[in-house]
Amino acid sequence: MDSGDSGRIRSLVRSATSDIVAASADPRRDIGAERSKSTFSSENLAAFMNGGSEALAKRRRLIAMMQRRPWGDKSQMAFRSREEEHIAGLEGAIGIFELMKNESLSIKDAAEMRTLLFQPGGFELHIGMFIPSILSQGTEEQQAAWLPLCMDLKLIGTYAQTELGHGTFLRGLETVAVYDPVTEQFVVHSPTLTATKWWPGGLGKTCTHAILMARLVTKGKDYGPHAFVVQLRDMATHLPLDGVEVGDIGPKMGYNGVDNGFLRFDHVPVPRDAMLMRYSRVLPDGTYVPPPRENSKASYATMVYVRATIVRDAGDFLGRAATIATRYTSVRRQSSPDAVTGRELQILDYENVYETLVPIVVKSYALKFMGKNMMAMYDGFVKARDRGDFSALPELHALSSGLKAVCTDVASVGIEACRRTCGGQGYSVLSGLPTIYTSYVQNVTWEGDNNVMYLQMARALVKQRLAQGTKANGSGNGISSAAAADWRRPEAVDEALEAVEGYLAEGAIAKLRALSGASPGAGSDPSSVPVEGDAWNQSTMDLVQLATCRCRRVVFDAFVQEVAKAAASPEVEAASRAALEEVCTLFGLLCLRESGADLLESRHVSPDQYRDIKMAFKQSCKQLRSNAVALVDAFGYEDYLLNSAIGRADGNIYEDLLRRAKSSPFNRTETGPGWDSGVLKDLLVGGGVARQASKL
Ligand SMILES: Cc1cc2nc3c(=O)[nH]c(=O)nc-3n(C[C@H](O)[C@H](O)[C@H](O)COP(=O)(O)OP(=O)(O)OC[C@H]3O[C@@H](n4cnc5c(N)ncnc54)[C@H](O)[C@@H]3O)c2cc1C
Repeated sequence: MDSGDSGRIRSLVRSATSDIVAASADPRRDIGAERSKSTFSSENLAAFMNGGSEALAKRRRLIAMMQRRPWGDKSQMAFRSREEEHIAGLEGAIGIFELMKNESLSIKDAAEMRTLLFQPGGFELHIGMFIPSILSQGTEEQQAAWLPLCMDLKLIGTYAQTELGHGTFLRGLETVAVYDPVTEQFVVHSPTLTATKWWPGGLGKTCTHAILMARLVTKGKDYGPHAFVVQLRDMATHLPLDGVEVGDIGPKMGYNGVDNGFLRFDHVPVPRDAMLMRYSRVLPDGTYVPPPRENSKASYATMVYVRATIVRDAGDFLGRAATIATRYTSVRRQSSPDAVTGRELQILDYENVYETLVPIVVKSYALKFMGKNMMAMYDGFVKARDRGDFSALPELHALSSGLKAVCTDVASVGIEACRRTCGGQGYSVLSGLPTIYTSYVQNVTWEGDNNVMYLQMARALVKQRLAQGTKANGSGNGISSAAAADWRRPEAVDEALEAVEGYLAEGAIAKLRALSGASPGAGSDPSSVPVEGDAWNQSTMDLVQLATCRCRRVVFDAFVQEVAKAAASPEVEAASRAALEEVCTLFGLLCLRESGADLLESRHVSPDQYRDIKMAFKQSCKQLRSNAVALVDAFGYEDYLLNSAIGRADGNIYEDLLRRAKSSPFNRTETGPGWDSGVLKDLLVGGGVARQASKL
């Protein structure tokens, strides 16, 4: 093509595409317009949401520090192989540990950096379970022996409980620790195939030690699962010790930087003081000393702690997905071109999109507040425990179980819903959404499968209700007198949820009583209601529903409390307060919507009242649509954390997508791996056929 031709062709194309170029929207302008129409300052609300503006500034400083380190570079994260992810996880954890030491940062700062890096690896269980277990169940001497090594990363631990044969049913564990008074050692052994430990994070290739849950047998008596600190690998060679068989269980749906492992023992001796003995003990002669009666459930404290942290983190994960999806859908335009500008509609303006996303933004707020509230409850328990008072533990155990289930269910369903609102881009790892989902969704399973968690809470609720005395006929609590406008009031929401809970509880109790074959004359006798066994197992759906309803109420109450705190805080501007109040109102309406069938079935609301709830919900979603971007900005997530081409704060999504795609190792050569390996080349030009011409 000569230069005259080239000029003519360019001009031809320019005139043919001028309308397309004019209508093509710059996503940066769209996101700017979203921000300018919000009714409050997202920075002001972000300070409240993140514990003050100094905390936000600190986070930015931590990010800057991380970005200066090779392990802090996230640009290739989406393209890593499993081995690369694993190594990156280890390097990141070690890098953060060194930064903490060299820059005199706190453990809290290190935890924050781990969150920001978002590259799980072999140290997760060391930090999340191994150290906390020693802290809560080890004696002072045991803590003094192990903790300094743990904190210095000279010993890396995991938590090995689940076996091939048993996850949920702990009393079914088959690994044994048999005490031998002659050598004053335990002999750890896996007597069956199903006794093989399966799943522990970091066990595969990283850990040197494990907290092993094994049945304690001494003087011929089996005392059930107890915790032991067991060395697995040689500290100098990293090879398994004699009698220990250990390895990685293979790739998973996500979370693949973590080497979840298997573990078997063949008559491995471990010293007597390997048993964590803060509460129960084995004396040198093999006498078992049970925990004092008042804290016989003390080992539950670690479980409660871990579940509390899961509750704490649920809102964070959901909030990240909500931020990405809200920003993307507010700059993504599709269909329905405007008659004047020719620009298509922002997808967030379609009712189906904003009625999906705005409630998820609202749920992220609710879960974040619940997480804060849960940790405050746990801290309160720890203070009491340190005074020897364990009385709050049973209730906290039930509550943390139920909340673990409800918060992780809400978060995982919500993350996937966010992904769907982003169409094809939501399926691309470059969006960040698949990684959030696949490295989050296991939360519904680990630390107690959610169904089992709901059932633990339901058991406590049933017992509580029986203790209070209950109507046996499963009737509701009477019809609400609320008028249309009342459904926006927290009191009306709480009353309705309480009524539904009562209805579900009475229904479940009546069913349990009927299934157990109790005579109608049993009346309100609590002993006629089984909380395990056949009748219980045939009622688990009803019981899960009951626990879900109670948890919804607890989460709603936590939200209302947090709004009250914002109202009392001089730092929170009136406009931020008003926005937060509307978010809380929508959450209340959402709770009512999600309890709709039970509200109607229990006749607490009439069909007309339910229609009022639905209308109020729709109006509130629409109202909050215009603040959607500001509301997610107020979560305060930096681009570094989100690492999403489509969730960028500046809205420059298309340029970033193309830039990231070009940096893929697949694009390292123009020809690509298929050609470079010879497979494509053989097909297209090989096989003895004369070399093809460059063009057909
Ligand atoms: C990514 C990941 C990491 C993990 N990390 C660790 C770790 O570090 N250490 C460790 O020890 N374990 C770990 N686990 C294991 C995890 O704790 C178990 O998977 C979990 O406790 C569930 O046990 P299970 O897999 O045996 O499921 P099962 O107990 O077989 O449950 C399967 C299904 O049956 C249902 N069910 C079971 N019992 C009941 C019941 N009584 N009532 C009603 N329904 C029931 C459950 O709801 C579930 O839907 C990890 C798991 C995953 C996925």
